[in-house]
Amino acid sequence: MKELRSWRDFPIGGIISEPGNSIENDMSGWRNEKPEIDQEKCIRCRICWTYCPDAAIIEEEKPYTTKTGKSYKLTYIVDYQHCKGCGICAQECPVKAIKMIPEV
Ligand code: SF4
Ligand code: SF4
Repeated sequence: MKELRSWRDFPIGGIISEPGNSIENDMSGWRNEKPEIDQEKCIRCRICWTYCPDAAIIEEEKPYTTKTGKSYKLTYIVDYQHCKGCGICAQECPVKAIKMIPEV
């Protein structure tokens, strides 16, 4: 896996010297909570993917079948290197499938 630049390496003032460089930064260090997706509750509505301001929800073409037998073609996971822990995904999820848990 490629080593990413920490937010601690940003220039003073947080100046963005090249556009579109967020993908190069590892933002995990400034979270105090992180989202956890319950794959059993998730109805694959894509709302978290749409609302995340950091494009840190990843849509994977990975099938998943719940314990009650419901099958989905997609799985939503969190890219923890880019998630800042804002909690918007958890707030917007219509079935409360995302829980914010303490970062340890
Ligand atoms: S907590 Fe915020 S940054 Fe992290 S996945 Fe959810 S919406 Fe995106
Ligand atoms: S908003 Fe909730 S139900 Fe919709 S895809 Fe995300 S985790 Fe699943």
